Amino acid sequence: MLNIVLFGPPGAGKGTQSTKLIEKYKLVHLSTGDILRGEIAQGTALGLEAKKLMDQGILVPDAVVIGMIRNKLESNKQANGFIFDGFPRTDAQAQALDSLLEELNTSISMMLALKVDEEELTKRLLIRGKDSGRPDDSDESVIRKRIDVYNSQTLPLINYYSNQNKYYSVDGIGTVQEIF
Ligand code: ADP
Repeated sequence: MLNIVLFGPPGAGKGTQSTKLIEKYKLVHLSTGDILRGEIAQGTALGLEAKKLMDQGILVPDAVVIGMIRNKLESNKQANGFIFDGFPRTDAQAQALDSLLEELNTSISMMLALKVDEEELTKRLLIRGKDSGRPDDSDESVIRKRIDVYNSQTLPLINYYSNQNKYYSVDGIGTVQEIF
């Protein structure tokens, strides 16, 4: 199995590159942000709770997102592999992911980390907010908060994967095709 952690700050282009990687390698796309927005759209209790946090740019509890990934892995046992987009975001999530994959006799192949500077990220997210309708992309203070949360809670995962020799950095500035 080819299991890729697609990593990078909000607005780095994870969703865009996921689409291309999925097509090329026939992988299953698992985006915790998309799953959470699906719960919100369906008006579930989980969605209502998650929305309060997401609108402030704060992370949803580890147990919630780990449970969602567990369900998806169990229902896609025949997959060629997975792209994890927006997950893991904390050390606890990375450890849980390793255990879940071990139960399936597989493991993470690599972390691909998209590098984009903060000024460019803010610009991209404000533009995305205009047509995506995502409330967390329409408010500059929420964007800054998400970048802060990324720097403090998520960025350390680079060490987690580089300690396993699985870390690869990619320049996230350029055309979609160049980055791909
Ligand atoms: P972006 O990468 O642009 O921030 P996402 O769709 O990945 O967009 O995430 C949107 C929001 O959903 C996050 O700010 C957070 O509140 C929540 N979220 C998504 N994935 C996770 C995760 N793995 N752990 C905790 N919260 C998450």
